[in-house]
Amino acid sequence: MPSRPPLVVLALALLFATSCAPSEPPRPKVAFLGVDGATFTVIDPLLKAGKLPNLAKLIDRGARVVLESSPESDASPVIWNSIITGTGMDEHGILSFTKPGGRPGEHRIYQSADRKVPALWHMVGERGGTTGAIGLWNTWPAEEIEGYMISDRFTLSLFTRNFAAEQAPALTYPDELLDEVAHLIAAPDDISREEVAALGTFSDAEWTELMTADKRKSGVVGGNGLVALKFGFQAQKTMGAVSLELLRTQEQPDLFMTFLELPDRVGHHFWHAYRPGDVPKRRGTVEPEWVERWGNVIPGAYEDADRWIGEMLAELDPDTTVFVISDHGMQASGSPGGVIDNLATMAHSGVHRSDGILIAAGPAIQAGSTVDDAGVFDIVNTTLAAMGMAPSSQSRGRVLTELFAPGFLAEHPLQPPRDETPLPPREPLTIEDSEAHRSQLEAIGYIDETGENKRFDRAEGSEAGNDDGK
Ligand SMILES: [Zn+2]
Repeated sequence: MPSRPPLVVLALALLFATSCAPSEPPRPKVAFLGVDGATFTVIDPLLKAGKLPNLAKLIDRGARVVLESSPESDASPVIWNSIITGTGMDEHGILSFTKPGGRPGEHRIYQSADRKVPALWHMVGERGGTTGAIGLWNTWPAEEIEGYMISDRFTLSLFTRNFAAEQAPALTYPDELLDEVAHLIAAPDDISREEVAALGTFSDAEWTELMTADKRKSGVVGGNGLVALKFGFQAQKTMGAVSLELLRTQEQPDLFMTFLELPDRVGHHFWHAYRPGDVPKRRGTVEPEWVERWGNVIPGAYEDADRWIGEMLAELDPDTTVFVISDHGMQASGSPGGVIDNLATMAHSGVHRSDGILIAAGPAIQAGSTVDDAGVFDIVNTTLAAMGMAPSSQSRGRVLTELFAPGFLAEHPLQPPRDETPLPPREPLTIEDSEAHRSQLEAIGYIDETGENKRFDRAEGSEAGNDDGK
């Protein structure tokens, strides 16, 4: 009589077979930390002085790369949408800050529905992964993705955001997330003198100006850099706090994305105090008192960003590959930044330059590696490859393989590019941009009273262009 193996042997064999079966290795995780307008021009001296300990640690164990901005536009919404889609402006459809729409003769701010092609979060979702995206440009209404999204209109910053939640649906996806994080919104007027003391000292008159400027008619405050400081600081605080909260309360998504904006905001309006030597003599002299009191506003903004990044790194799985990315650099406009007895003139001393940053570290990245022709179009496919995913044929950029650790590539070989599923047609929400929001845009000088994008003279010697950006 043939003997049958006892049940326990069968069970053990099954267990052995299961545990030895080839199982999917855990998906490599990536964090995409956007810092608007960050430049090595400011970062390098601060690294040398030991003032950016968290970026320093990333560079020590990773790569430091100059990231060439988009040749098409120096407007931040255009560039960031190229970064997250790998496409040019004609393909992604975000052509500036605002577009004709709303009431006749007016312009409205570009919305997520205006973006015509899939973004990184769609690509990651199609490849079976999850994304948590916080504060990226033109993400309102928050998009339904595999994961969560905090739209850029969540903060009360320069461009959008003084909506009450009921006036602006879809600030977050899913909607319920709003209840969990709404308490973290730092309103512009809640800024305290103590918390900006590390950036600069402000007289009573300046502080009053800072607290009230955005409530006045745009003609009075046009271009006042104190407004940019206030909104930028509070927006950075809001997005930093929401990032930490979601990293603590939610499972870390495969791709975590967030956005800090203060370096750009103050870069536009305090460059004269930071680098007075960049102002040509024939343009005037920078007020020495401003240099003394506000020379640290820009470095302080970077230190603040570094602190938020350090806190996020502490929450992220240590096996996360981290990318710190900016859309462009910054340089002097040539303006001495105004005169001290007329605060309304204090502004517009910094403009964009094409050299952004890419700092990369983690399991996918070879320490000490670099690449000298990296550009904003390469971020999509480099991010996907660092997640072990197929790059996208939609992107005009490439995988920056020079940065990758050979061991990582052995475990996660580069895959052929794949096509993206087109997005279903999306209708922009017809809600009008709020008055408060528009007055902020006007106050900073990005749009005029009709909502049209304003144009500014760029740096000395270059042609006129669409300045700025957030
Ligand atoms: Zn800018």
